[in-house]
Amino acid sequence: MATCFWLRSCGAQRLGSTFPGCRLRPRAGGLVPASRPAPGPAQLRGYAGGLAGLSAALLRTDSFVGGRWLPAAATFPVQDPASGAALGMVADCGVREARAAVRAAYEAFCSWREVSAKERSSLLRKWYNLMIQNKDDLARIITAESGKPLKEAHGEILYSAFFLEWFSEEARRVYGDIIYTPAKDRRALVLKQPIGVAAVITPWNFPSAMITRKVGAALAAGCTVVVKPAEDTPFSALALAEVNQGFLLDLDPLLLASQAGIPSGVYNVIPCSRKNAKEVGEAICTDPLVSKISFTGSTTTGKILLHHAANSVKRVSMELGGLAPFIVFDSANVDQAVAGAMASKFRNTGQTCVCSNQFLVQRGIHDAFVKAFAEAMKKNLRVGNGFEEGTTQGPLINEKAVEKVEKQVNDAVSKGATIVTGGKRHQLGKNFFEPTLLCNVTQDMLCTHEETFGPLAPVIKFNTEEEAIAIANAADVGLAGYFYSQDPAQIWRVAEQLEVGMVGVNEGLISSVECPFGGVKQSGLGREGSKYGIDEYLELKYVCYGGL
Ligand code: NAP
Repeated sequence: MATCFWLRSCGAQRLGSTFPGCRLRPRAGGLVPASRPAPGPAQLRGYAGGLAGLSAALLRTDSFVGGRWLPAAATFPVQDPASGAALGMVADCGVREARAAVRAAYEAFCSWREVSAKERSSLLRKWYNLMIQNKDDLARIITAESGKPLKEAHGEILYSAFFLEWFSEEARRVYGDIIYTPAKDRRALVLKQPIGVAAVITPWNFPSAMITRKVGAALAAGCTVVVKPAEDTPFSALALAEVNQGFLLDLDPLLLASQAGIPSGVYNVIPCSRKNAKEVGEAICTDPLVSKISFTGSTTTGKILLHHAANSVKRVSMELGGLAPFIVFDSANVDQAVAGAMASKFRNTGQTCVCSNQFLVQRGIHDAFVKAFAEAMKKNLRVGNGFEEGTTQGPLINEKAVEKVEKQVNDAVSKGATIVTGGKRHQLGKNFFEPTLLCNVTQDMLCTHEETFGPLAPVIKFNTEEEAIAIANAADVGLAGYFYSQDPAQIWRVAEQLEVGMVGVNEGLISSVECPFGGVKQSGLGREGSKYGIDEYLELKYVCYGGL
């Protein structure tokens, strides 16, 4: 746990006096027209959502530090990946802003750690309520900046808010222990205490939920946070701050800030461009006032942050990439397996860390599964702008992501794979790709050992259970895995043998705030959500109470 350097100077101050001015927040920033022209080919369709469709009140562009909206010296543009339309210019924070945010979080920690668990719980609950009240506007922001179909964006906002609700409940269930040692005149106590300031770095694919999954647990435990959202999706992170302020603005003016809302400095957001991500990341992850690094993103970036953590021995949570196998055994129910395959592969246009990456299908059921899967894809998937009614497949986040999928398809076809459906870029624009099904896939193809993060389903035919397990476990990552079987003995065997952190048995959607989310091998360290998630932000302290 971080040493509280300010305890002597500011520790006597408690929330009421530390944050007296926190309801008087100037509205700095605001939308500035993007100076860069919207890129993209001629076929790009009109922007179905448009800035006019987004809540101006929630669309903040400045950083949020110490309870204040602060501009930075520079800005970076954020665009809608579907149309290329400019959404706004956002504060491009650098090392200076990062250090200031850590300092604000640290000062706030000195007070926040002393707030009762019941009060932290109630504040998180209010934040949850405000998210629910603003859910439509928050969902539209997700669709605008990430391209996610609006229906899925609504789903994400609920999932995101549920983490605040869940951890508001868990905040009051942090228990210690009493241990009886051989020495009769002593008792051993185990206390659980908040770690300190957490540096939180999150990806673009769940711009809201990846934040609340961490921040809910951190705040419930008594920690404070500095959030660095992804360059592509800073608006959702900033909107969470705006929403959280809502209960400060609506207050009875006689109430103290400490009784009103989450105090200044507890939740800080420092957006930055990709150009600054490395140095901002390094600044917050190596700062001695930071005690914990919580990251969700690629395994490559996770390894860089682990190096930062090593130098000052910080606690880490790493939610990294996966390569989820989806195994269909001969005994499976084909319809059930196809429904699971559709859900696990095509959510967020294939851009989730738990998306199935390779389909292993046993010889006896192979042809029936491939036929039914192709039919389901043609019937149920509709590519389009996320704001359009009926769209199930939005754009990929950027053209680089499209190039990756295209490269994997070309590589597979050049080595003998067959395109069953899809296979090329979509006519809607540069960030769209057709939902694609490949069969005759073999393990020497890129798509079987590189995370796709796009709408590509490659099918490998196998003969025996042992063969399927060996292919699945050959990966050096292990986040999620799915399999379909009606054989109870096989279900136990395979569930136990798969080297992953989460298994879906006859089920393609497994995420839930109540259940532990996380991976093994190079998919990460630690668990989020569930009753275990709060432990990532707590330190154990052993107290030997003698002289009894
Ligand atoms: P990424 O490139 O690793 O980026 C994630 C975050 O790290 C972004 O905020 C990014 O900023 C930042 N970042 C990049 N380089 C950095 C550096 N050197 N120092 C500090 N921060 C740095 O990952 P992504 O491509 O955005 O996200 C997709 C990956 O996330 C996939 O591999 C997916 O499997 C994984 N993921 C895992 C989970 C899970 O729970 N296990 C959940 C969702 C996603 P910029 O945006 O500015 O680059």
